[in-house]
This record gives sequence, structure tokens and C-alpha cells, in this order.
Amino acid sequence: MDSQYSEIRKDYRTGYYAVIVPGRDRRPKELETEDEGAVNLKECPFEPNTVDRVNLEIMHVNEPWTTMVIRNKFPELDGHTPLEYENGFLSSISGYGYNEVLIESPKHSDKFENMGTKKSLEWLNTLIEREEALYSRNYIKHVMVFKNYGASGGASIGHPHTQIIAWPEILGTPAIEIEIAKKYLKENNSCIYEEAVKKEESRILFETEKVAAIAPYGSRFAGESMLLTKRHVNYIMDLSQEEKEDITNGLKKIILTNAKLFGEQAYNFVIHENKREPDYHMHIEIYPRIANLAGVELGQNVFVNTVVPEDYVKKFKEKAESV
Ligand SMILES: [Zn+2]
Ligand SMILES: [Zn+2]
Repeated sequence: MDSQYSEIRKDYRTGYYAVIVPGRDRRPKELETEDEGAVNLKECPFEPNTVDRVNLEIMHVNEPWTTMVIRNKFPELDGHTPLEYENGFLSSISGYGYNEVLIESPKHSDKFENMGTKKSLEWLNTLIEREEALYSRNYIKHVMVFKNYGASGGASIGHPHTQIIAWPEILGTPAIEIEIAKKYLKENNSCIYEEAVKKEESRILFETEKVAAIAPYGSRFAGESMLLTKRHVNYIMDLSQEEKEDITNGLKKIILTNAKLFGEQAYNFVIHENKREPDYHMHIEIYPRIANLAGVELGQNVFVNTVVPEDYVKKFKEKAESV
């Protein structure tokens, strides 16, 4: 392995993948503790007067910009790395791919969950534009969108941002979910996610005509939820205008209500979808970071969840924020 490049290595014991990334100790150290608003403002690389537009900008919306997409200065994957596979006892894929950062607002103290409808749609439409561009690049098979919020959610910068990673293979949970969805479709002639909306009736957090939010039966994390369209959609570009509005409003409702229930805590959300996997069903998973991973989670990949999903639903309904 050239020490300059990252590498996606497969663990021969489990089949799990790990991206081995050299040099990540040079990342910004802004958020070693939770960001109290603008405390870290002067260190922030995403401000209108600090963001490196010359070297990093990919696109922006409006003048002056209200949303900007830049290359991640500390990428896990790099588009200049030749795509190479090693097969055998030690299997790996070279770290080819793309990391981008969507800066949600020029304002450091803005919060994702407080964006108005128009701004949220700007966020979603920008993601769609970037996904389209990334899926059109050579060998890209999966584009993953996610947000880390708060130091214990893995964010290193307090400024509101969303991340995009374009991968040369579908790896990990999306790969497992696609395989299960395909098998379910073959055996039952129906989509497992649409089936879930019916079967999870007692664990529905809220629903509109177009979308539903569920506390999944087998939730791994306390306060975990899944937001999905009722119609079969495998790729965010295929969302209707109404679905886009309900998805973004639903996502904000979940984050706001979780903050009421658990306190203003770190969280992550990920968008699970794939342009080229028509049998997959787009959904957003939201994980409040209430408990740390411990021995059972790390050692067995079995999760101990001390918040019963049914109780979470009950409390959520009592406190639900209207968005
Ligand atoms: Zn900032
Ligand atoms: Zn479906």
C-alpha cells in the first residue's frame, strides 16, 4: 500500500470492510467538545470569508451563496486513485471515489432542523444535482449521503454541513439491505419497505399521505427511526415535489422531537438509496447518539437498545414537533 493512498480492505475473518486512511490526524480539531454555537467560529473553514473557493468549490446556489458544495479537504476516497482490486486471502479495493461536503448555510449558527421549507428543498435539490454528477463518473456504484452532528456524532466542524461519498462498490449495510430487499421481492412479489409500513403499524411515529416515519421493530439504537416514502422510490431524483417536501419536513420533525425527548444531543442520519438498484427503497435512517458503543456492540455486532421502540413511539407522539 502506497502510504499516500487510502485502501478499502476486507477483513478475512468477517467480510467487513474498513477504509484505511493515512494522514487523517491532520483533520481540523475544531470540535473536540460539542460546539456551543459560535464558540469555534474563528477556526471554522466553512465561513464565507474562510472557505477555500479557489481550490475546493464544486458549486454554489444563489449570489451571495446560500448553499455551497466543496471537495472534502480530508477525503477517505480520491478520484485520482486508479481503481484496482486485490483478490485473495488479503482482499482490497483501492480508495477510488469522491468525498464532497455540502455547506448548508453561510451562517455558522444555523441548524438543519430550523431551515424553512424553501431552504430544505434547496438542500435536497443540491444533493440530487451532486448525486447525478457523481453517478455519471466512471465506476461509481453507490453515492451515500449522511450527516454527522455534534462531536460525539463524529462531526469535526460545528458549521452546518452534510457529506457525500461516492463509492466504487456498494458496501456494508446498503449492500445487505439490497440483497434482502431483492430476496423478499422474489419470494413475496412485494417491496419489503412498503410491507414494513403496513407491518409496523404500531410503531409508526407519524405519517402523511406521501411518507411514513417508523421506529423499526429491530432498532439497534435508542430512539432510532426510519423515514420513507409510501410509493416505491429507489433514488432521490425520482421523488415528486410533494414527497420532497414531506421527506424534508419529516426529517426536521424527527430531529426536533428527538431533541425534546433526549435533550440537544449528537445525531447522525444517512440516506439509503441507489440510482441503479430499482428494487431498493429509499429511506432515511436517523440515529440519536445517546449511548456509546460498548463490548457487545463492538465485539459481537449485536446491539443493546435500552429504549423500547414502542415506548419511543408513545413518547414521540406526546411531544411531536409540528414542522
Ligand atoms: Zn462556520
Ligand atoms: Zn418499495
